[in-house]
Amino acid sequence: MQPRRQRTIARPAEFHGFGFLTGADVTLRFLPAAENTGLRFQRVDLPGTEPIPATLDYVVLRQRRTAISNGTATVELIEHVMAAMAGLQIDNCLVQVNATECPGADGSSLGFVQTLLDAGIIEQSAFREVLVVHEACLARGDDDRSEISAGHIFRRTLVISYELDYGPRSPIKPQLLTFEFSPEAFVTSLAFARTFVLETEIAALKSQGYGSRVTPADLLVFGPTGVIGNELRAPDECVRHKILDCIGDFALLGCDIHGHFRAYRSGHNVNHAICRSVAEAHNPLHRLRQPA
Ligand SMILES: [Zn+2]
Repeated sequence: MQPRRQRTIARPAEFHGFGFLTGADVTLRFLPAAENTGLRFQRVDLPGTEPIPATLDYVVLRQRRTAISNGTATVELIEHVMAAMAGLQIDNCLVQVNATECPGADGSSLGFVQTLLDAGIIEQSAFREVLVVHEACLARGDDDRSEISAGHIFRRTLVISYELDYGPRSPIKPQLLTFEFSPEAFVTSLAFARTFVLETEIAALKSQGYGSRVTPADLLVFGPTGVIGNELRAPDECVRHKILDCIGDFALLGCDIHGHFRAYRSGHNVNHAICRSVAEAHNPLHRLRQPA
């Protein structure tokens, strides 16, 4: 990858949908932002609250999603919006949201990507900071059944290899995919990939008061024999979605990353952990600031 300048959107744009957790109607408003301000989310339904930087320092612990909080305001389920912005190399953007969570859309990043592409993307003056992975790092899930490593790659690029394997009894078959990042590859190969749950997990979520408005048409629900009431957009849509989640979570580092990540069954919390590990192992002096 060549050194590149930071980017933002050319004009404001809106996306309307409903939240998968609460079922509330949600409007997302993407606004252009000055260089070096990064990606930030602001709760406009809570008057006077400051934008929350979408960086590791603001991540709060959740199960199976990514949320950020500044103590007074919290935004849940940012990962697929983050993936859309990171996937298009939009580095500076203020995302205003009028609810506690981002819209679920169709469970993928496609709607956000289309909205951002319609807004147009413009280049700014400052160069984008790059973290080049040169120290091997490893993060493991609490149950030791998931992990992700980061290592050096000779070419200046980001590669993510993901191995998904939920065992022989799972209706989701093992899938392995290696993805080399570029905005074009993100749009064509990952953006459409939807999140997935097991039918049994849906029942548990609904019993906790979540997901009352979600139907199998809104995301991929796997029953004992496969997808219920929906069709896969690719035979390996699940692993594509897991890599999409990685792209969104790695954007919490606030810079481009050149390295090879190898993931086994990792989810958001392990993705955050490898980002923290990589950030700690790579002194800011090793980050490359491109010449102005
Ligand atoms: Zn996801």
